[in-house]
Amino acid sequence: MFEKVLIANRGEIAVRILRACREMGIRTVAIHSTSDVDAMHVRLADETICVGPPPAQDSYLCVPAILSAATISNADAIHPGYGFLSENADFAAMAEEHGFAFIGPSPEHIRMMGDKITAKKVARENGIPVVPDSGGTVKDEKSALDAAEEIGYPVLVKASAGGGGRGMKLVATPDELPEAVQTAKSEALTAFGDNKVYIEKYLGRARHVEVQVLADFYGGVVHLGERDCSLQRRHQKLLEEAPSPALNDDQRHEIGGIVVAAMEKIAYRSVGTVEFLYEDGAFYFIEMNTRLQVEHPVTEMICGLDLVREMVRIAAGAPLGYGQEDIRLSGHAIECRINAENPVTFIPSPGRVGDYHAPGGLGVRVDSAIYSGYNVPPHYDSMIAKLIVHGANRNECLMRLRRALDEYVIDGLETTIPLHRRLLADPAIINGDYDTHWLEEFVSSDD
Ligand code: ADP
Repeated sequence: MFEKVLIANRGEIAVRILRACREMGIRTVAIHSTSDVDAMHVRLADETICVGPPPAQDSYLCVPAILSAATISNADAIHPGYGFLSENADFAAMAEEHGFAFIGPSPEHIRMMGDKITAKKVARENGIPVVPDSGGTVKDEKSALDAAEEIGYPVLVKASAGGGGRGMKLVATPDELPEAVQTAKSEALTAFGDNKVYIEKYLGRARHVEVQVLADFYGGVVHLGERDCSLQRRHQKLLEEAPSPALNDDQRHEIGGIVVAAMEKIAYRSVGTVEFLYEDGAFYFIEMNTRLQVEHPVTEMICGLDLVREMVRIAAGAPLGYGQEDIRLSGHAIECRINAENPVTFIPSPGRVGDYHAPGGLGVRVDSAIYSGYNVPPHYDSMIAKLIVHGANRNECLMRLRRALDEYVIDGLETTIPLHRRLLADPAIINGDYDTHWLEEFVSSDD
């Protein structure tokens, strides 16, 4: 097992990883920018190294500084968390070349899934149903029009290198398509350094359902059920739940089995999430995330496994030690993402936290890195906490979540807590009857 792990991240996920390492008897090295000297992950780590100034480009994304920090601290392994360098195949490869274990998938798998056109091809070839698309890059106006005609309007123009909900354009009619392709290409080049775009069928009433997998170096693969992440604003998830209210056990086992078989074929390792849109009883692959996800705790709450611990064990060469028949999913879990944002306008609200009181009690988990007196810096993501609640069934989970949200006090900042309270009073949420467009309509009805 590793003796020391460097955590190449900040915020709640750095604390989450640090906790798992500490429980495993592994020492931790926190890296931080100059604006994060007082951050919780820095306070809790065994060793800390400043890697640069506040802009992420110069600190949390600065590969030479991070590899130097790993070398100086004599770490055995690097955990990238999510965001930042977690899906950067070159970083994973460089970490390994410098003698550090990368706690994640192989650089080849990260690269394969990081390009959406390649990812869809691999998925299709390995028996995973995919969203109908142009079958590769659209090069010119004519091939775009032909592909869209065959798929049927409306269509989405998507950047192959896209991510974080960016790089998608909805096109309703052929006359809008040429311009959408041109703008998508130039925006993709600016945002992702790659102008490849493709066309995909637009699913107007779909749910976002994603399957969590865990795989070791020796062909052991299990799935841990699915999460429903349909509640999104601008393609960004706000509330996630497991299991999905839309699936029954047969559908769950069927899609889980398809995903496991594909992961076995491509010899995947570590954690991964295969994302689908689900409409009219059919699954359509959209992409695979080759990292730990923000919403992983809802899966942990229903399966009882510590996913970070499993990632560390796998990276250290341990076999899973259990099979699909040993995985038991129990009860229901929901996660609310609490962002430092105005709950109506979504304008970020960084600043100093005043009084702080986190909820507790049976089945309540708070993953956060804030504390009273902490100054939320303006340079990074606005998510400051995740409230995760588990109940014996969905109804108990909803009641407990309402109670926990009512207890939560975060003074000094605007947060999305009032929005979550309103969501949990809405019949659509109570009945689990919502799709990927529902939240957008719910928040725009405020205007
Ligand atoms: P990203 O990598 O930016 O997260 P994804 O491909 O995972 O992009 O899609 C994010 C979200 O965008 C999905 O959860 C869904 O809400 C929406 N979306 C993506 N593809 C489609 C599609 N073909 N039809 C309808 N909505 C889509």
